[in-house]
Amino acid sequence: MKTSWLPIEQGSDFSLENLPFGVFKTEGLTPRAGVALGGYVIDLSALYSSGLMNGIGISNNVFNKPYLNDFIALGKPVWQAVRSFLQTMFEKENTSLKDNDNLIKHIVIPMKEVQMLMPIQVRDYTDFYSSEEHATNVGIMFRGKENALMPNWKHLPVGYHGRASSIVISGTNIHRPKGQIRPDDNLPPVFSPSRQMDFELEMAFIIGKSTNLGDSVSTQEAEEHIFGMVIFNDWSARDIQKWEYVPLGPFLGKNFASSVSPWIVTMDALAPFRTEGPAQEPEVLPYLQYEGNKNFDICLEVQLQPENVEPVTISRSNHKYLYWNMAQQLAHHTVNGCNLSIGDMMASGTISGPTEDAFGSMLEIAWKGTKPVTMADGSKRVFIQDNDTVIMKAWCEKEGLRVGFGEVIGKILPAKP
Ligand code: CA
Repeated sequence: MKTSWLPIEQGSDFSLENLPFGVFKTEGLTPRAGVALGGYVIDLSALYSSGLMNGIGISNNVFNKPYLNDFIALGKPVWQAVRSFLQTMFEKENTSLKDNDNLIKHIVIPMKEVQMLMPIQVRDYTDFYSSEEHATNVGIMFRGKENALMPNWKHLPVGYHGRASSIVISGTNIHRPKGQIRPDDNLPPVFSPSRQMDFELEMAFIIGKSTNLGDSVSTQEAEEHIFGMVIFNDWSARDIQKWEYVPLGPFLGKNFASSVSPWIVTMDALAPFRTEGPAQEPEVLPYLQYEGNKNFDICLEVQLQPENVEPVTISRSNHKYLYWNMAQQLAHHTVNGCNLSIGDMMASGTISGPTEDAFGSMLEIAWKGTKPVTMADGSKRVFIQDNDTVIMKAWCEKEGLRVGFGEVIGKILPAKP
């Protein structure tokens, strides 16, 4: 394992093998790109200006920008060169930066002094529905056990196009959405703040290589188009969703907000955590077939925290449970010639595991309101109440190596008057 001359706490999400990219600002500094290392943020713009990065093939300071899109556009060899440069620069024996206190002061910033910002200008947002357990649970609740999975579900990764404008950075508070709901099926709908506010435990990947309209990406090529991943909370208003979703699918029940974690973990950092996916039966069509391990062993956790109360963990799941992997999702997304842009965000869909303690939404955890969850103060929840905070964490761990995503936090405020 790599060790650094920077003091990195044991068990930190941000080891020298991780080096996730984000965008931050501090007092007096404009938004810029950074990399997380232990409890510090490495200011890539300052590092670039210092001249230490000369020779890695970047001709202007793409880090001095409010989004990572321009850096990402330089391509995978450049992402890898920066990663490799940083691993060398901060490696224990390397003294080129270590012994220069004046430079360190500008380049190495304590994480508690920075504010993290939306790292990507999101071009388009797609949400898949790729967890068999989640699709089955929701299907049972809405259609009964016999028709839980729709006939297409095991033949293609179901998805829909969401709204990019309302994807927000962790820490952004969300007002409870209002809309049409129909609490009584025998009465007309009413206009109301949502009474069934929920989260969805998801992860999203970010497109790092574009395609032309008309082109398709194979499962083999797909990962070349992925820059990295974040934790994704796809906030959902179940009562609005239930009334509106037939026949065209999710709309106002979903598009008021989704929250992302600030650090984008690259596919190179995730490589040691590849694992086999679930067996796919029936056999999928040739364009969805793949070779090798395309799932990732990423531990996921959800906590729910009422105001001024300790959080409780209400779910423990794993990204590896996904039935459809990212390569299949991308192959399907582009099979009709739909083009990809740098900065597109593709979310997994709620990631539920096989057991009740691994369910990825309140809808499933409290099973449509029938199994309340107890908070640390003794109060009960079947959905999210005003001033509750949802915290999601994700990390990979193996033989002492830890590559983590940090967390995504969001609080539900009362509906606007
Ligand atoms: Ca979703």
